Amino acid sequence: MKAPPFAYARAHSLAEVFDLLARHGDGAKLLAGGQSLIATLNMRLSAPELLIDITRLTELTGISVRDGTVRIGALTTHAEIERSAEIRKHLPLLAQAAPHIAHAAIRNVGTFGGSIALADPAAEWPACCVALDAQFVIAGKAGARRVAARDFFKGLYATALRPDEVLTQVEIAVPGPDYRSAFVELAQRRGDYAIVGLAAIAKCARGVLSDLRLAFLGVGPAPVLARTAMAAVEGKRASADAIAAGAKALAKDLDPGADLYSSAATKMQLARVLTARALAALAT
Ligand code: FAD
Repeated sequence: MKAPPFAYARAHSLAEVFDLLARHGDGAKLLAGGQSLIATLNMRLSAPELLIDITRLTELTGISVRDGTVRIGALTTHAEIERSAEIRKHLPLLAQAAPHIAHAAIRNVGTFGGSIALADPAAEWPACCVALDAQFVIAGKAGARRVAARDFFKGLYATALRPDEVLTQVEIAVPGPDYRSAFVELAQRRGDYAIVGLAAIAKCARGVLSDLRLAFLGVGPAPVLARTAMAAVEGKRASADAIAAGAKALAKDLDPGADLYSSAATKMQLARVLTARALAALAT
């Protein structure tokens, strides 16, 4: 199938983007990497009257580290994050998650901001951002505002972004030196979207886990922070008993629906397996 007809505008400044969004409202869509948007157009799941190409906005690109905060521009590609020495050093969780996103060709073009704005429930970046307690910088004609990742994802493909706003940057505080992270995922084939995945981070001092954060993908309409499981393991050594208690507590946190391939019970079991693997990885 081919995309329905649409007009195209290449934006040269954010001000131009805001003007176009104000004029076209819901009829306009931002085009970043196009790795999700173009597919939805070709499948005729979306029919915007105007595509606003934001890929020339250099102020939305790049990774920088200043004053204990990593800033990642919305147009930074998955591959740039995967290859970044700064990311490996300061936010290893993102480096661990990146290879699970699609295939190299898609990672070379798809963007961090596009994935977050789309909010696919099986995407890796949204869960990582929840685990890392990221802040999203969102700009509109009236100025910029910050929204915590934990408040941003509202439901299936639904976010706190308004139709006239642009996600410009993600800010993530660098975790302390005692923090460890693990990203684990099960998919039908390497490169496919996850059936279930887990972004995990914790402080690990002499084997004791604290400030533990377990953010799941693929088990609900949006990333799920498994608060009961986190509390069950908080302040404990990652012994077999603590790991079993964390995995058991998940029943209170997750209520996965079945998808085309897996029943709800299978997804729950996979989530328990991933929890055990992630906790063991954090403690080693
Ligand atoms: P686009 O497709 O350009 O845009 C997506 C949506 O976000 C659009 O609605 C657009 O208007 C909006 N948008 C884009 N940027 C902004 C912004 N800065 N501010 C506000 N709104 C914005 N993703 C995964 O996470 N995991 C996978 O395993 C995975 N597998 C894939 C497999 C295939 C075969 C394909 C084609 C894609 C896959 N993807 C996967 C999706 C891929 O990661 C996309 O790159 C990502 O979902 C969207 O990023 P994009 O830059 O391509 O955004």
